[in-house]
Amino acid sequence: MEHTRYRGRFAPSPTGPLHFGSLVTAVATWLEARAANGDWLVRIEDLDPLREPPEATDQILHSLDAHGLHSDEPIRFQSRRHPAYQKAIAYLLKNEKAYRCSCSRKQLLAHGGRHPSQCRTRKAGSEGSAHAIRFALTDAHCQWQDLFLGPQHQIVRAELDDPVLQRKEGFYAYQLAVAVDDIDQGISHVVRGDDLLDMTAQQQQIFEALGVSPPQWLHIPVILNEQGQKLSKQNRAPAIDDSKPTTNLVHALTALGQQPPESLFSATVDEVLAWARTHWKRTAIPLTSQQARGINPSTQSHLDH
Ligand code: GLU
Repeated sequence: MEHTRYRGRFAPSPTGPLHFGSLVTAVATWLEARAANGDWLVRIEDLDPLREPPEATDQILHSLDAHGLHSDEPIRFQSRRHPAYQKAIAYLLKNEKAYRCSCSRKQLLAHGGRHPSQCRTRKAGSEGSAHAIRFALTDAHCQWQDLFLGPQHQIVRAELDDPVLQRKEGFYAYQLAVAVDDIDQGISHVVRGDDLLDMTAQQQQIFEALGVSPPQWLHIPVILNEQGQKLSKQNRAPAIDDSKPTTNLVHALTALGQQPPESLFSATVDEVLAWARTHWKRTAIPLTSQQARGINPSTQSHLDH
């Protein structure tokens, strides 16, 4: 499908407040959309209430606002999209692109990732006891062009890698919801951290099974802490300080290799964003997470303004 208009999004899972790494991703998604004179949307991927502190969504939205990053359309919440996900699952089951699976993780491990109960070959209609819904991948050597990383190839192994679309407990999974919403919102370009790169080939097959060509992908290096781990709630990345939006934005631009001038530290949020928009250079993004790490303000106190 030819996309006529650039439509990008920032789609955080609200497992905690926005931290520096997620701000860098947000800024990159925003700048790519602005550089293309396109739309920039915010989507909250609140699929799993057990992993989401109730205050996290408001904290994220407050931080985005404080940093001048405003969605061009009303914010979408995946928690309000269950009927659409159900419909997609019904469609995939009907077309034998998805199947019911009652295997436990232990059973799968014991069988080298194969399904002992041959879930995949059972008729789509057979409903057992508690089951997950999995996507039926096709064996493929998948190749595509990442707009930052260049040519990519991933091997997709049917059955062994089949992603869960809906968990036994009933929660819809990221791999399903992300594709359904990117399609429904007409997203033409996905910009995100390279921690999600491994998901991309599988996601492309899900897009195709839903009858839509996948979007263009651009994966940026994720920001690491001193231990070389991705900044995340699990490894206690500090929440971004909403009282210093200018400083945070300048640091985010530095992490993205944009070399903002010192004078921006005394500019307004809108001035920083306007500078970034004019000077945005995708090719200046550091190639590896290691390079980005060297300029992560949470590890470099001398950058503190
Ligand atoms: N919700 C995902 C996350 O926060 C990002 C989804 C995406 O950009 O594809 O990691």
